[in-house]
Amino acid sequence: MNGTRLGAGIRERLYASTTHTYDETADLDYIAIEYALNGEPVTLTRAEKIHAARILDARNFSSKEIGRRIGSDPSTVEAWKANGWKPGKHPKTRTHTPRPEPICGEPRMYRRHLKNGERCDTCRAANAAADRRYRATGSRKEAG
Ligand SMILES: [Zn+2]
Repeated sequence: MNGTRLGAGIRERLYASTTHTYDETADLDYIAIEYALNGEPVTLTRAEKIHAARILDARNFSSKEIGRRIGSDPSTVEAWKANGWKPGKHPKTRTHTPRPEPICGEPRMYRRHLKNGERCDTCRAANAAADRRYRATGSRKEAG
């Protein structure tokens, strides 16, 4: 007698891998993943969650059900899927774009030269021009 009824059409136990119990390169604990696949409480690493989510998704589980089994928000599961089953960026997370490196002629670069004790004619000229603008207009910024 089958005690717990799993997902629609699925009656057999789900296995993460039939040959290995541990993937050293990907750092996956297949036993732990197997628990999650079968709805048993287990704590997974993110890599294991993604692995489990991918398997469940291939078996047409909803992201809500996948999220319940692996202990993640359904939107997180959807984000992994949208990203080709890689961690990537979460839609709810503000994406952090690093500031581009300053280039010569920009005030930031001029300050960097000063800090590093470097001499740069381009930046010096740009800074002098900004000083002149400041005296003339009250703003160091170039008129847009
Ligand atoms: Zn420069």
